[in-house]
Amino acid sequence: MNSATCFLCGQEDESVEHMLLGCDWTRGIWLSICGLRIYHESLSTFDQWLSQVILNDDNLLGVKEDLVRKIAFTCWGIWKARCERVLTDSQDLGYRTVNRIQQALEEWMRVKDRLEPKHDSVDGRTVSDDLWQKPDEGWFKVNCDGAFCNNSCVAGIGIVVRDSEGIVLESYGKCIKAGNALVAEAVAVKEAVQVTRHMGLEQVIIETDCSNIHSNIKSNTVVDWRIKPLVLDIGHLLRELPNVELRVIKRSANIAADWFAKQARKEMCFVDGRLHHPSSLVGIWSSDGVAAPP
Ligand SMILES: [Zn+2]
Repeated sequence: MNSATCFLCGQEDESVEHMLLGCDWTRGIWLSICGLRIYHESLSTFDQWLSQVILNDDNLLGVKEDLVRKIAFTCWGIWKARCERVLTDSQDLGYRTVNRIQQALEEWMRVKDRLEPKHDSVDGRTVSDDLWQKPDEGWFKVNCDGAFCNNSCVAGIGIVVRDSEGIVLESYGKCIKAGNALVAEAVAVKEAVQVTRHMGLEQVIIETDCSNIHSNIKSNTVVDWRIKPLVLDIGHLLRELPNVELRVIKRSANIAADWFAKQARKEMCFVDGRLHHPSSLVGIWSSDGVAAPP
């Protein structure tokens, strides 16, 4: 095999077209991510293939945009996988690559949603469940979140307490012991309930972005043994607090609590919102549509 031949399949020269579209193992990736079949016979240059795919496809603009995005991420994923293969000789290239591309796409969509939130405007007021909302007058909100790192097994929880003006009454993150992400989320909810009780708040909405925990607590039937003791504790505590409601919200509406959870996990310590310079948190508060605390 000469040096120009593809080191993966040994079938053709290692051209851009071959690496991204022609090499055998990429077939399944194109099909599963983009729904595209690559016809080797009609393949000339990458540019030509790309414009053909895009022009031939007379879909609506949004669908086309989606396809172009998927193509870009697929190229990136295939390229990255090839590079890794040179260095590490990793196996099951196809499966891992599909997974990685899908994850990258999802992440990208999440970031995009945060940057361009779609609002329904009612009386000039922004109403969107994509963003954090102030509670009604006389009510408080306690947002909580858990963060878990699979590699280090270090977890953090974040708590943010705000009133109906959006004023931050309490905000902190704690590094905790948790065996997995679900446990971290459950510990966060328990902490939120305890803080509510400790602060003597009466009309409170506790918000989590973990629907699994939420439904376990609401239904009072715990399927997952890993969180069973926590869910039972939380249920018990909540029954003692009649005007405290647990709600599930989107992750994009829980950014402040998420920040504290991640920060505590990263620093492996207690992170007190009051000790952080306001400017470092401005982005966090403004992402929730409220002003930074003084
Ligand atoms: Zn090849």
